[in-house]
Amino acid sequence: MTNAPQARLLIVGPQGSGKGTQGVRIAEALGIPAISTGDVFRGAVAAGTELGVKVKTIIEAGDLVPDELTSAVVRERLSQEDAAGGFLLDGYPRNLGQVGDLDAFLGGRGESLDAVIELTVPRDESISRLALRAKEQGRTDDTEEVIANRLAIYERETAPILDVYRERGIVDEIDGVGSLDEITARIVEALRARGLERSAAA
Ligand code: AMP
Repeated sequence: MTNAPQARLLIVGPQGSGKGTQGVRIAEALGIPAISTGDVFRGAVAAGTELGVKVKTIIEAGDLVPDELTSAVVRERLSQEDAAGGFLLDGYPRNLGQVGDLDAFLGGRGESLDAVIELTVPRDESISRLALRAKEQGRTDDTEEVIANRLAIYERETAPILDVYRERGIVDEIDGVGSLDEITARIVEALRARGLERSAAA
């Protein structure tokens, strides 16, 4: 494919910020695959694979899967052909160790992230969205106790990765409150300002 979009993106936000939904929309808009580590792990658990057996109890507690395992899963996924012309990562990296792993992997290919979309949502709003999702989807990690654990991990481990990316000048802070279309439009606009948009060939 000629003139492929070379957008390498990461979407970050607390649980309930809508990053999964927006990640899929943005990836579609740019013609790149959305890669969600949470989805990969949930799929492995549902399929009962070796990976699924390893991560099941960790996910159910809302804890983080060890970096070594998570980074290996991502490296394998990013090595697939559809990710050669760009990708959108959702939920990885999630701590500073994983930032280092991703830098090393992409650096080895002469690549780096082009933009990091930070979706901001007030804490009350994300908690009420999670409660709704728990009712609608019945996710085992959407119970009140596990949600509190996941939000605490976000604040302690994931928020600091934004400082690293901010220093690189690649973070776009996006207001995550509004209609789905409004939020998607805000993200598309921010990416366009960086020269990242769907190419004619995509
Ligand atoms: P998510 O759908 O992104 O909220 O992910 C669901 C769960 O999968 C998390 O609570 C973690 O247990 C696990 N997980 C997803 N991404 C990662 C990651 N990058 N590092 C470690 N664990 C992860």
